[in-house]
Amino acid sequence: MKFIIVTGGVISGIGKGITAASIGRLLKSRGFKVTAVKIDPYLNCDAGTMNPYQHGEVYVMDDGGEVDLDLGHYERFLDIELGKKNNITTGKVYLNVIEKERKGDYLGETVQIIPHITNEIIGEVISAGDSAEIMLVEMGGTVGDIESMPFLEAMRELRIRVGKENILFGHVTLVPEIKTTGEQKTKPTQHSIMALREIGIRPDFIIARGEKPLEPQARSKISLFCDVERKGIISAPDVENPYEIVLKLDEQGVTEYILEKLHLKARCNELEDWINFIESMRNPTREVKIAIVGKYIGLKDSYLSHIEAIKHAAAELKLKPIISWISAEDIERKGTNLLKGNDCLLIPGGFGKRGSKGKIDACRHARENNVPFLGVCFGFQLAVIEYCRNVLGLDANSTEFDPDTANPVVTILEDQSERLGGTMRLGSYPIKIVKGTKAFEIYGKEKIGERHRHRYEVNPEYVSEVEKGKMKFSGISDDGFMELLEMKGHRFYMASQFHPEFKSRPGKPAPLFLEWMKSTISG
Ligand code: GLN
Repeated sequence: MKFIIVTGGVISGIGKGITAASIGRLLKSRGFKVTAVKIDPYLNCDAGTMNPYQHGEVYVMDDGGEVDLDLGHYERFLDIELGKKNNITTGKVYLNVIEKERKGDYLGETVQIIPHITNEIIGEVISAGDSAEIMLVEMGGTVGDIESMPFLEAMRELRIRVGKENILFGHVTLVPEIKTTGEQKTKPTQHSIMALREIGIRPDFIIARGEKPLEPQARSKISLFCDVERKGIISAPDVENPYEIVLKLDEQGVTEYILEKLHLKARCNELEDWINFIESMRNPTREVKIAIVGKYIGLKDSYLSHIEAIKHAAAELKLKPIISWISAEDIERKGTNLLKGNDCLLIPGGFGKRGSKGKIDACRHARENNVPFLGVCFGFQLAVIEYCRNVLGLDANSTEFDPDTANPVVTILEDQSERLGGTMRLGSYPIKIVKGTKAFEIYGKEKIGERHRHRYEVNPEYVSEVEKGKMKFSGISDDGFMELLEMKGHRFYMASQFHPEFKSRPGKPAPLFLEWMKSTISG
């Protein structure tokens, strides 16, 4: 296996993940089996407990891993399925080492950062590789952070272990521009490379992020001061559509440069599907106005996979999505008039009472006014509560925000809390689609597998009552939980307990997103 280690400099949040994923996509287009690992140097063992306001959405893997959203970029750009093992954090590494120490695995030794932690890191990185030929290792944070030191040291050691022809170091950095003079400044990059060199790492290529393309002069300067040949200095200016970065990097010869350095030869050049996908995004035939009602609308990254799933479906339908972010609490204050003017409505996942009433009102608005509606996870649960309240006349609620509700239509099932110890139902579960339903039309098969991240369930005691009218649970998990809800006689009213957005890919949109958006055209 060959390795490409991607570090970041100057500031965080400059799209290191997208850049690395784009490189991965390019290498895949040349016929190589590529995989990726994201290193997050924080002490949390995984992203599951983190507030989406800090790091964006928690991405969920097939195997139930709750990981950094960059893993979503890798799955989407590479069209692969990764797992828990592809996200390594300081917490995870230390926990393993300390457990080994307690078991007596290091008996007699003084357990230290070097070599015990670094060996553990190397071992975890390599074992995440499966049968891949090239592995991308993205280092979270920026070079110089105390937290990332052991990881960088481990990567330096990895170079010795695997040999220099099998590993490359790439550095993604920011080249700011002085507004008054228009001059691109390379000094922060030089300093960042100095910090890398201090640790014993010399980059093979540098990706310069900036508002505009890198000027020849700035390129020469970076090349000279950072000791990287000109061919290895790549410009990555801001783009509106991150999927285009793949093409922007390829144009500059980065793929051939990397392959040559790794002593590999391209086996093919297959980027057509990517180019077609981008072409359809570039040439929409009409707009579609989408309202997303949520709690974390201040940070769009909290709903990243939803946005991507919308883009994938829109590209397929040649639509230009215009998203309006509507705060659920604003709906509580100002009413559902805020939703007017949109072609369709999405209620994404969420937790807790705050804003839930506004989301319930939004469900009602969509149901009563024939507005194409998609509810995901929390959105599914709230759609059920809304129907029970406003159609069945029940004083219904979820025990998530009213433990003593008269009608717990959404609740934690007893055997479930015992079985799962109160933790969430995570990852992919098989779901049976009921024949003769809209869901069956959409999926065209009886069995699907989709990813989950929730604690509460629709209470089976209320299922037959809900199904008496126009509502139908058209998907049920093999372990008996309600997974899909649909409404007869509505343009499109569907909701899922699972998260369809995590399996959506460019060129392969999630079926529920696709049909939901399609219904805005046909209706
Ligand atoms: N809060 C709900 C639950 O725990 C929904 C979770 C979600 O939307 N991801 O079941």
